[in-house]
Amino acid sequence: MPDASHHAPRSLDVAIVGGGLAGLYAIHRLRGLGLTVRAYEAGSGIGGTWFWNRYPGARCDVESLEYSYSFSDALQQEWQWPERYGTQPEILKYINHVADRFDLRRDVQLNTRIVSAVFDTRANRWVLRTRDGEEIRARYCVMAAGNLSTPRVPDFKGLNDFKGRWYHSGLWPHEGVDFSGQRVGVIGTGSSGVQMIPLIAEQAKHLHVFQRTANFSLPARNGPMDAERERRHKAEYRQRRIAAADTPFAIAGHARPTRSALEVAEEERNQAYEAKWQEGGSISYLYSYTDLLVNKESNDTASEFVRNKIRATVKDPRTAELLAPKDHPIGTKRLCLDTNYYETYNRDNVTLVDVRSDPIDTITATGLRTKGGQTFELDAIVFATGFDAMTGALNEIDVRTTDGPGGKSAVLRDHWEGGPLTYLGLMVSGFPNMFIVTGPGSPGVKTQMIASIEQHVDWIANCIDHLQSKGLDRIEATPQAEQAWVEHVNAVADSTLYPLANSWYVGANIPGKPRVFMPYVGGYDRYKRHSEAIAANGYEGFTLGTHERAEAAD
Ligand code: NAP
Repeated sequence: MPDASHHAPRSLDVAIVGGGLAGLYAIHRLRGLGLTVRAYEAGSGIGGTWFWNRYPGARCDVESLEYSYSFSDALQQEWQWPERYGTQPEILKYINHVADRFDLRRDVQLNTRIVSAVFDTRANRWVLRTRDGEEIRARYCVMAAGNLSTPRVPDFKGLNDFKGRWYHSGLWPHEGVDFSGQRVGVIGTGSSGVQMIPLIAEQAKHLHVFQRTANFSLPARNGPMDAERERRHKAEYRQRRIAAADTPFAIAGHARPTRSALEVAEEERNQAYEAKWQEGGSISYLYSYTDLLVNKESNDTASEFVRNKIRATVKDPRTAELLAPKDHPIGTKRLCLDTNYYETYNRDNVTLVDVRSDPIDTITATGLRTKGGQTFELDAIVFATGFDAMTGALNEIDVRTTDGPGGKSAVLRDHWEGGPLTYLGLMVSGFPNMFIVTGPGSPGVKTQMIASIEQHVDWIANCIDHLQSKGLDRIEATPQAEQAWVEHVNAVADSTLYPLANSWYVGANIPGKPRVFMPYVGGYDRYKRHSEAIAANGYEGFTLGTHERAEAAD
């Protein structure tokens, strides 16, 4: 790949951080307004999540006919997904196709990590600096750096002494890994662990799974794309996208439930859960009744149904009990979808190790040791231990503003010390002209992510267009609006069962991270209506102006 940096325009209308699904759509959409844009991507290829997460079994847990861009009907008609759920290579291929089809690559600079972003208040410019020292000045900055993009390896002692190889799910080697004949340890049983464990088990000589918290997983029922289903879906694609926008998860095709789980007799309820279990997919299961995510007693019925499935699948009763989650209601942590996950524990070469009762203490030269003194000999360790979610990517960049007229100096890491603060998940008070895509306060991670990406980027594009049409060049969220939004996000979460789980939604997987509920769980439909009404009403909660006016106030 030729080094484009010395050809790059140093002065842009919009600098975009990230070349994944969000950054790429932002290029397309903002270019359409006649703006000069450029995305800066740390990876050596585009695709973000789908570029980095190449572990065995990596695939999306939202069906591909839904998990795809909707902005071009021609694109959604012509692209063919080979399976119900896209694999990582298929999704990456799709993203590359989109980049070529819409000529996006010329505005993506690869191998370029942004290390700082400083708003020069007097000049009204964002000044971004790359790790190699290149400087980019831009009127607006769009942070499209992802929300599960900062891989995290727990701070175990001794990792440097380990003589075998170790991997993180989110930094997987491009050439793949052959575990044949090896003694492998997988640490972590979130979505990544649940997807990779069955496949690593098929290769490894022996697999030890180190589980701290059991997660609920449902069968994906993946398979080749059904041609008739694809034809029907494509015939109604536009209507389906419109219908999806009117749902909490931004996914069409699931009838809204009308009854509480407690209004239904046990036998009928279990039949309903069985039908959803056979159908596969998490939305469908959680949509069985109206109140599974808000009423603990209702949720217990759905949780117990899955626990019983686990008990019926896993032959060793002790292993089955360990795998049956008891510390959080189903759906309050990201619900996993799997292919043969629980069945894998019936293999002779797979052992589940409970590191809740006996935590991992040290990585040794030849494996690992628990606090209770159990030792495990391993040739390879796989960390499926997740990410510094929602805030990690932005906090890795030194985001600040200079001192200046009309805007006071601010440092994002300080502003977010007690937890992230945003207005609508889109802007941060004190940081003018910087937009965030699917960050904290956005419904993104609780929805079909690409729908939220498109909605946010459209909102941002409309906002910049609005400013330009009014001769304005500065927009900033007010501290009051930001505070009110954060309170609303937490109030909505508190009206549900979500806060009962120690999940990355509240930063619980990162020791010391402030416990704040980060995603907006009020639903995509509600968020879309609200954020668009705010724009239509003259951007309530934002201060719009010109930087000349700000200077005049000096
Ligand atoms: P995750 O859900 O955060 O899971 C991390 C796992 O590592 C948890 O089981 C966690 O246990 C464990 N862990 C962390 N630190 C540990 C320690 N010190 N000792 C023992 N265990 C430890 O991460 P993930 O599986 O990578 O998934 C993150 C998110 O990415 C998902 O929720 C999903 O939104 C997305 N994702 C989606 C897909 C998909 O579409 N199919 C696939 C992968 C990821 P605790 O629970 O006890 O903290």
